[in-house]
Amino acid sequence: MNVQWESVIGLELHVQLATRSKIFSGAANRFGAPPNTQACAVDLGLPGVLPVANEEVIRMAVMFGLAVDASIARQSVFARKNYFYPDLPKGYQISQYELPIVSAGRVQIRIDGATREIGITRAHLEEDAGKSVHEGFAGSTGIDLNRAGAPLIEIVSEPDLRSAGEAVALMKKIHALVRYLEISDGNMQEGSFRCDANVSIRPAGDGGLGTRTETKNINSFRFVEQAINHEIGRQIELVEAGREVVQETRLYDPDRNETRSMRGKEEANDYRYFPDPDLPPVVIDNDYIEAIRRQLPELPEQKQQRFMETYGLSEYDSGYLVANRETADYFESAVTGVPGQAKPVANWIMGELGAALNRESISINDSKVSASMLAGLVKRIADGTISNKLGKQVFEALWNGDGDVDGIIEKQGLKQVTDAGEIGRLVEDVIAENDAQVRQYRNAAPEKRGKMIGYFVGQVMKKSGGKANPKQVNQLLTEKL
Ligand code: ADP
Ligand code: MG
Repeated sequence: MNVQWESVIGLELHVQLATRSKIFSGAANRFGAPPNTQACAVDLGLPGVLPVANEEVIRMAVMFGLAVDASIARQSVFARKNYFYPDLPKGYQISQYELPIVSAGRVQIRIDGATREIGITRAHLEEDAGKSVHEGFAGSTGIDLNRAGAPLIEIVSEPDLRSAGEAVALMKKIHALVRYLEISDGNMQEGSFRCDANVSIRPAGDGGLGTRTETKNINSFRFVEQAINHEIGRQIELVEAGREVVQETRLYDPDRNETRSMRGKEEANDYRYFPDPDLPPVVIDNDYIEAIRRQLPELPEQKQQRFMETYGLSEYDSGYLVANRETADYFESAVTGVPGQAKPVANWIMGELGAALNRESISINDSKVSASMLAGLVKRIADGTISNKLGKQVFEALWNGDGDVDGIIEKQGLKQVTDAGEIGRLVEDVIAENDAQVRQYRNAAPEKRGKMIGYFVGQVMKKSGGKANPKQVNQLLTEKL
């Protein structure tokens, strides 16, 4: 039997909300404090204390819901999800179950030049658990409860994704959204943005759903792609060997690029969910929602549309620039410094700047070439002071902190030579030094000369140290040859 397999994927994204305090207590919600210095009596669930919902998390969840075109529950309910784990001192996690605050939304992803709509089943609020610490505890495990009670929004997608690439596109899309909305720092190393990937396979064209596995806590775009691809391969192999996929929770090991079984998959009824009697339902009205809607910032798709219309950029270029808010801001701030040069500015950001940021693994906010420096550089290329090629040299110098654009051009003597007399002398020298090529050129048919002149242009440019104006060089050569 030769079956074509199709993969079916749904994501659960845990996004830590960037509030100052925790979801149900006044303890600080900050990463990196010494262990167990940021968990108060409420986070520990000590007897006699009561949780109080942080209004800021409600506002953030509504913002997210509006951004994904979802329905916002006028009444949502916090529920207890009961399980035992050492990093969960209360013995239950406060989450939302039957009545989540956000449901039935959608986002669009772009993949291979096509747009696909992916359903957002729900997004609910919950508290994070603490952390088990193994390092430095030989033979035992430490517990750090700083993270207990940190606010999370869990975003659950429909099983609408059909490849690892689509899953990554969705993850990137949601990542950009929460950053645009400024509801999360999205920091994946610190665990502010984590992904569980649900994967199953089915014969292509089949309408039903196969048995899924859930791979937990993947914390980078690359690992999500690798984990899903590995899991698809593993399931196909199993099924083709006549065995069955078992519904279970798995763990991705990036060092070995494989997923491993962690535990059998629990069912919702294992958790004995029930409404938390300590917390009243969250009731919000239309005015509240509309006030938040008015405060929504420009979102990536709107920004992209505006970049295309206002600056005449292509879909690709504008898509690159809006992929994160910082890059978009950098671009706009640079263009303000050199109006009319949007395309060259975009090219520098996507080219030299992107490469330099990558090389040093820093974000554009920490770029050593600021937006106004880049604007200054593009201006000097646009007004003919330097060539585009030497611009790269200036860029490197700017990056290395060697001064401002004009200072660097002056100090390194990079000014473009436009003096006809000076270029003329170089042209004559080159003609005199290249007898054979000159004869060839003069004997060639006129339509072949266009190509042959490149050689002479190259020689003159070399003699000028790259500084001669190429257009003038071309013109003078054509005349004198
Ligand atoms: P749980 O909380 O138990 O993991 P949910 O019903 O909330 O269960 O589903 C979690 C995720 O699993 C969703 O993103 C959903 O799209 C995805 N999912 C459900 N069934 C399948 C399946 N057969 N194949 C792939 N993904 C699935
Ligand atoms: Mg799940």
